[in-house]
Amino acid sequence: MLSSDTTNTSAPTPSDFIRDIVAEDLRTGKHSKIITRFPPEPNGYLHIGHAKSICLNFGIAREFGGVCNLRMDDTNPTKEDVEYVDSIQEDVRWLISGWSDQVLALKIRGDTTGTGILPLNSPSVSPAELEPFYASDYFAQLYGYAVTLIKAGKAYVCDLSPADTDRYRGAPDRPGQDSPWRERPVDENLDIFERMKNGEFPDGTRTLRAKINMTSPNVWLRDPLLYRIRHAEHHHTGNTWCIYPMYDFAHVLSDSIEGISHSICTLEFEVHRPLYEWILDNLPVPQPRPHQHEFARLSLSYTVLSKRKLLQLVNEGLVTGWDDPRMPTISGLRRRGVTAQALRNFAYHIGVTKYNALTDVAVLEHSIREDLNKRALRRLAVLRPIKVVIANYPEDKVEHLDALNNPEDPNAGSRKIPFSRELFIDRDDFMEIPPPKYFRLRPGGEVRLKYAYIIKCDHVVKDASGHIIELHCTADLDSKSGGATASRKVKGTIHWVSAAHAIDAEVRLYDRLFTVPEPDADGDFKKHINPHSLEVIKAKAEPSLKEANPDFRYQFERLAYFCLDKDSQLSTNSPQLIFNRTITLKDAWAKETQKK
Ligand code: ATP
Ligand code: MG
Repeated sequence: MLSSDTTNTSAPTPSDFIRDIVAEDLRTGKHSKIITRFPPEPNGYLHIGHAKSICLNFGIAREFGGVCNLRMDDTNPTKEDVEYVDSIQEDVRWLISGWSDQVLALKIRGDTTGTGILPLNSPSVSPAELEPFYASDYFAQLYGYAVTLIKAGKAYVCDLSPADTDRYRGAPDRPGQDSPWRERPVDENLDIFERMKNGEFPDGTRTLRAKINMTSPNVWLRDPLLYRIRHAEHHHTGNTWCIYPMYDFAHVLSDSIEGISHSICTLEFEVHRPLYEWILDNLPVPQPRPHQHEFARLSLSYTVLSKRKLLQLVNEGLVTGWDDPRMPTISGLRRRGVTAQALRNFAYHIGVTKYNALTDVAVLEHSIREDLNKRALRRLAVLRPIKVVIANYPEDKVEHLDALNNPEDPNAGSRKIPFSRELFIDRDDFMEIPPPKYFRLRPGGEVRLKYAYIIKCDHVVKDASGHIIELHCTADLDSKSGGATASRKVKGTIHWVSAAHAIDAEVRLYDRLFTVPEPDADGDFKKHINPHSLEVIKAKAEPSLKEANPDFRYQFERLAYFCLDKDSQLSTNSPQLIFNRTITLKDAWAKETQKK
């Protein structure tokens, strides 16, 4: 499977400040086993920013002999859905498959105690029996922890409305004010909290809050909400609960319950860390405790990375779905033909820092090209065909010429390409009145047909309206490999297909979805959508592509990298092939920017 998605083109092991901390914690014995977690909220599909986090968390587990738990951070029933739970699992498995199956910890189906954990590649259990961790599986335990805080006088039920709660909280430059319910007696708190759980009160009427400090400079410590009332069905727990824990409370305790050693998140959670610690300090949690570490999130030029905004693109029909090949989602990139290896190489290449910065999408594109160059099978295809007739080539003759599958990979072998009197070449490779230094085909000029002969254009045939319909050429019949003039040099080489043998294929030419480097800089990202981000054309391809394989990647020589789209119909007698352009061979945008 040399050219398939599983080809290993690995990058060296990275080092960064988080890995240094992990190594130090192992050395000092603070932790004897490394357990990280990737905790997406199932309210959308994963994007390439999540890929950075996945590669970091699973990468650390892999490098330090640990495991990484895939956990659904599912505390907000109204925005979440099983569709997202399923897509997240698929994307995570795809991204780490062949790399670190042994470090993906999932649970055995039905086991809610957290003890029946097995690695994904364990021979004794099939992947179908494994499911991710769910924060919602801990709701009963979290409820117990909340009761413990109430009993210790460290949490209270507050009857302020949501608007008043905000008002009383103050602002970073203005201290907050104690809620009138702050000194509610413990017994009353216990009673009302239980009745909240039993569904006696409508949404928004009461909350459970931690009693910390309403004048703290850190607003997250100003008696943060721990629970709110939500009469909503939950995708995993159904109607069991009508109170739901807030992110900060659920997250740290889920980490603790799962025995997480390093809880790695993005920088905006740095201000939440004192609350993370407060909760652990004030509850009887097992040792060693988890610690939170923050790193800079990925921002990518010409891209929006926020599930909320990506959802808008999907809902408003600006793309065809979450897996539209123009989307920066993991499923979109996969459908476009980007391999898991290329994404992992990209994540390693950009590294992990403490400073937010915009990463140039050209860096991602470079990783994609580098990876595809090593694995893609070379094929000939003509995107905008123009007929070439070789006048001195016998009408009924067909030759089968040798062509290497991949010059970068000696094991990729070779194939035969049929050559005959009538061919197609790309319209872009012919100019009637060419500019200086034009080395492709022109009237009276010569080019080499890749793997075949040198031809000369003798005559241009046009229709009544002046459109070129055919080029009449003659070939130097000794110029093929092994022939007397095989070593003769001409300046241009172009690709071609034999007209009688070529197969039809739909080709979807994708480009960047946005026209400006920071589409969301003015808060109106939809205004900057690239109207030319998709062009669909009918192409002619060499016949060996009849056997195109969805797991393989292709380079249409001189053009771009392609993969089969899932819309292709492969199992019929006349297969309908649809190819997605993953990426061009060279960066066309770099040229554009230089011109400006
Ligand atoms: P979004 O803002 O796109 O909705 P999110 O942070 O709300 O993303 P979560 O599902 O909560 O999405 O994220 C799961 C994990 O992925 C978190 O640990 C989060 O820090 C990390 N993550 C999310 N976006 C990025 C990003 N752009 N770069 C790196 N890590 C990210
Ligand atoms: Mg989030």
